[in-house]
Amino acid sequence: MLKVENVTKYYGDFLAVDDLSFEVEKGEIFGLLGVNGAGKTTTFRMIMGLLDLNEGKISLNGEKIDYSMTDKIGFLTEERSLLTKLTVKEQCEYYGKLKGMTQKEIEENAGFLLKKFGVPDYWDRKIKELSKGNQQKIQFITAIMHKPDLLILDEPFSGLDPLNVEIFKTEIKEMAANGCMIIFSSHRMEHVELFCKKIVIIQDGKSVLAGEISKIKEDFRKKNIFVKGEGIDKKELEKTEGVLSVSEIGDELEVKIQDIEHVDVVFNKIKDKKIFKFVVEQPSLNEIFVAKVGEKFGE
Ligand code: ATP
Repeated sequence: MLKVENVTKYYGDFLAVDDLSFEVEKGEIFGLLGVNGAGKTTTFRMIMGLLDLNEGKISLNGEKIDYSMTDKIGFLTEERSLLTKLTVKEQCEYYGKLKGMTQKEIEENAGFLLKKFGVPDYWDRKIKELSKGNQQKIQFITAIMHKPDLLILDEPFSGLDPLNVEIFKTEIKEMAANGCMIIFSSHRMEHVELFCKKIVIIQDGKSVLAGEISKIKEDFRKKNIFVKGEGIDKKELEKTEGVLSVSEIGDELEVKIQDIEHVDVVFNKIKDKKIFKFVVEQPSLNEIFVAKVGEKFGE
């Protein structure tokens, strides 16, 4: 298990991470979310033992993380960190040796993954000659070829086409099924919803929302009703008690309401009309994220 306990980090006088705590279990894909500058990268660097903490404790499987444990951790950074003049083979050897792998392990594991990712003939190709998406594949391969216990993925799908996103997703899920602890960070909330059961949202280095996504959605009182019908007056609906907003989405209306108790009020308002659809849905994670951290940006 990865345990982050009451971690605080200052850069000089600037408080970048403020009393942050969370845990990631074996086989779990955990979402660490936040707007730009929230403190995610700082947190990742502390987890990897690259930055000292000012306060708190981080441990992996009960042991304090230091440089000797880097071979247990894999990291896919948001910014590309490939050495573009090298060949794929040289790149894999470079990272593999840093992670304590033998030449045989590097060739076997990287070779296996190149094949799995549909690029078996890239071994001797120069990184700079590869497309952006294929460079991302090589970066991913170098992050996982030493079979880490903990994998940190920062915007793993950037630059990937939908087919390659699927290949990455399958691999990430397979690694989790094999017991890897995964921290997933992305601004694409639909990806986070798909992967993660538990999340923490940080703002100015502080946790502002944490827990299971399903529980977070339940607790977030606002709900959305999707309505389709004939003769429904949008303006009338907007004036209805408990209705926050009504917007047209295609040929449907999306009615945002304060809480579940106002579903009946909305239904009663339109029940005499011809209704083809009336569906109450939980808000999306994106909506909750914007509501929670958007205030700061005036949203
Ligand atoms: P992004 O989504 O843009 O990558 P982030 O959530 O990863 O952002 P961090 O890079 O952890 O955010 O930065 C958190 C805060 O700490 C920011 O205000 C940033 O300006 C500041 N910061 C980061 N690194 C340093 C540093 N080396 N010295 C001083 N301040 C820093």
